[in-house]
Amino acid sequence: MRMTSRRARERERLVQRLREEGIRDPAVLKAIQETPRHIFVDEALSSRAYEDTALPIGFRQTISQPYIVARMTEALLAGGPLQKVLEVGTGSGYQTAILAGLTGLVYTVERIKPLLTQAQARFNYLGITNIRAKCADGLWGWPAYGPYQGILVAAAPMEMPQSFLKQLAVGGRMVIPVGASSSAQSLMVVTRTADDFEMKTLERVSFVPLVGE
Ligand code: SAH
Repeated sequence: MRMTSRRARERERLVQRLREEGIRDPAVLKAIQETPRHIFVDEALSSRAYEDTALPIGFRQTISQPYIVARMTEALLAGGPLQKVLEVGTGSGYQTAILAGLTGLVYTVERIKPLLTQAQARFNYLGITNIRAKCADGLWGWPAYGPYQGILVAAAPMEMPQSFLKQLAVGGRMVIPVGASSSAQSLMVVTRTADDFEMKTLERVSFVPLVGE
């Protein structure tokens, strides 16, 4: 009991900080308040789970910084509710769990099998049932269930992949970091209109690379 309330307070402080950093969407802030990030990191790091920082999750990957998770989720949801969402790069599963609380159904793809297995165990533990996951090269998206109203990419390709654009529904949105080196990536929002793609840059970011097979 005491542990739980301490963590709830830590999450409260994190949410306050995200507010100060400009996150506005109440649904996103609520999801962060209610999602136990400490479940998504190694026990040895759990005391740092509510710092606003990326943390190692093994296999030279990281759980994204809460600010980035909040920013990307907010940008993805800015056009209204989303029924079907594709996430590329499950990692720890934290971003996936946040999306699952805010959208209808999440399809997530991860190339490192042990990470995916661990993430799925966490979804089960938390009783989250609206996530479908597979181990594959996410560079190809997950065409079988597309098009998606939302696509969130958690690793950075050097250029905008055509495969993702193809799987984005008309009226849908994609949030994706693009750039050649970790010091020169832009977080982009792509909106698909009836006959075009509108692209907007949100800010500079630093993601692990999207690795092709
Ligand atoms: N939002 C996640 C971030 C994980 S880091 C979290 O908060 O935990 C990005 C993830 O993308 C890593 O797990 C990495 O293995 C995965 N990734 C990189 N290239 C990929 C590819 N081509 N297909 C699928 N996943 C990929």
